[in-house]
Amino acid sequence: STSKTFHSPRPPIHLPPEETPISAAEYALSLHADHSPWPDSIAIINSSTSHKLSYSEFITRIKSLTSYLENVTKLCKNDTAFILCPNSIEVPILYFSLLSLGVVISPANPISSESEISHQISLCSPVIAFAVSKTCHKLPKLKHRTILIDSPEFDSILTMSPPAAAATAQRDLEKVTVSQSDSAAIMYSSGTTGRVKGVVLTHRNLMAVIAGYYPSKQERNSPTVMLYTVPYFHVFGFFYSFKSIALSETVVVMERFDLKNMLRAVEKFRVTELAVAPPVVVAMTKSDLTDGYDLRSLETVGCGGAPLGKDVMKVFADRFPTVDLWQGYGLTESTGVLSRSNDPEESRRWGSVGRLTAACEARIVDADTGDALPPGKQGELWVRGPTIMKGYVGDPEATSTSLDPDGWLRTGDLCYIDDEGFVFVVDRLKELIKYKGYQVAPAELEQLLQSHPEIADAAVIPYPDEEAGQVPMAFVVKQPQSRINESGVMDFVAKQVAPFKKVRRVEFVSAIPKSPAGKILRKELRKMFPMPSSKM
Ligand code: AMP
Repeated sequence: STSKTFHSPRPPIHLPPEETPISAAEYALSLHADHSPWPDSIAIINSSTSHKLSYSEFITRIKSLTSYLENVTKLCKNDTAFILCPNSIEVPILYFSLLSLGVVISPANPISSESEISHQISLCSPVIAFAVSKTCHKLPKLKHRTILIDSPEFDSILTMSPPAAAATAQRDLEKVTVSQSDSAAIMYSSGTTGRVKGVVLTHRNLMAVIAGYYPSKQERNSPTVMLYTVPYFHVFGFFYSFKSIALSETVVVMERFDLKNMLRAVEKFRVTELAVAPPVVVAMTKSDLTDGYDLRSLETVGCGGAPLGKDVMKVFADRFPTVDLWQGYGLTESTGVLSRSNDPEESRRWGSVGRLTAACEARIVDADTGDALPPGKQGELWVRGPTIMKGYVGDPEATSTSLDPDGWLRTGDLCYIDDEGFVFVVDRLKELIKYKGYQVAPAELEQLLQSHPEIADAAVIPYPDEEAGQVPMAFVVKQPQSRINESGVMDFVAKQVAPFKKVRRVEFVSAIPKSPAGKILRKELRKMFPMPSSKM
């Protein structure tokens, strides 16, 4: 019944009518233009070189690049661009340009292996790729060339004035019409089961997420200075790149996380807010390095992507009493955020992932009866709202398993919601393993292991780890006479996958427990092997 549906306590969001053509990029820029209290603040800073762009410089570069991509590269609406880039100032400029042309963005982890990349490319069918000199060798040939965004040529495209960019083109600038229901991104997630799939997010999905942050906090005297250690290719960094511009924040970009460099950047750029995954919070509570830097500018740390233990939150609060630490929770399939804390009071609910974001509805569903449960009861979290994905690209079966006909997304997470609307994530029901916030799909590692001539069967489950959250653990059945050992198994996998997917524990068993239908009984495996208790 509807009384068992939880509603967001946030004020409603105001999006343009669905039929109004507008891209998420234009939407974010229009919010910035309408409400920016600072005439021309800094939009973005490279933390290692200190190279800065003001908002007007940032926007001019977007326009130059958009014009170039449309007129010279001849990208068209609904083309897909594959992106294999570490964080840089150029990535958000590229995102804004591509979306304003209606080109679908498909960003992947730059440390992916070639076989992982070819799987992703087969899912999203890109016509062009954007990479950096270090990653381009992993890409196959596409219809258009690969463009290196760390090259001097790219820099000259960005700094070419838009009319000059247009003049290099054969035809006049034509305004591309982007509908809110058009696809904006294809991002990668294994969902609740199986291999990696392409999550299709629309412009309106992104707009709804941005709108949920807008207008942001109370009046400030100066812009929020936001440092992301989260990558732009993951949904967290992806939607933040639009949200930060809409909110006229100053973004400090780090190419890769390093605690010392992060602390140095906080001091140097007077960072007010950090967007991080749990291992960064854990590192901040454990390392003495924090004593060596002036971190007094820091007001807020927002953490998401994987669970953050209640105990870590308490230690953090003792160590940094003036900093609000809050958790956000969400999925790639929900454009990143479903719940978060919104003020210091909410952020003190340790262990909670905050309250439902604007326009998001939730149900807690009993796995056995399918009933929607009342506050305080545990069940699978189902969510509905304007940020929920369109579906998995080219996979109607996986889409219909995840999304029911009424628009409810099954999160695969065991949760409860209390009387005051705070959401708690208790366990993960789905197969997914999270290593430092990164997704590892057991099915992918299982297929790889099963391809080894000396392995008869294999199953992979998460093993709790203090630093990483979880690490992949393999249960392996050897072929008769096989002499393969633990390191043989680990090396075999390590050679073929991105480093965060490595199998880090191996247990040899005589058989993998399976259901009559052949489904791996992961719960039985967990029981067969005693594991240290840990949050998920
Ligand atoms: P991804 O699509 O990579 O963002 O992964 C989504 C999954 O990460 C969720 O379904 C959860 O299992 C997990 N997750 C994300 N944020 C949190 C959090 N704050 N607490 C617990 N689990 C989380």
